[in-house]
Amino acid sequence: MRKEKMKCVKCDEWAEETGVVVDGFKMRAWKCSECGEEYLNPEDAEKALILNKYKKGIKVKVGALGDSTIVRIPKELAHALGLTKGKEVEIKSKDAKHIEVVL
Ligand SMILES: [Zn+2]
Repeated sequence: MRKEKMKCVKCDEWAEETGVVVDGFKMRAWKCSECGEEYLNPEDAEKALILNKYKKGIKVKVGALGDSTIVRIPKELAHALGLTKGKEVEIKSKDAKHIEVVL
């Protein structure tokens, strides 16, 4: 991963690259060694917002493709999760009303 430098807007000191984890989502960030101010990577922050948006759930229709039953994952959610065609995930049945897709 390429290193990007950032200056703290509060004290004009160089902020060091670090990472923060929110709800299991790792975000790139910078932390000012002088004042402790943290700056989130805007791309990661956007992904975190999308993940948060889908926490309450959305309704989608079940479809069929050949013999398979399909459930579509919204494009922005798939992107935020890094789900791309060909990626392998695990499906688990939780109970009669819930399934879990584990990345
Ligand atoms: Zn600072």
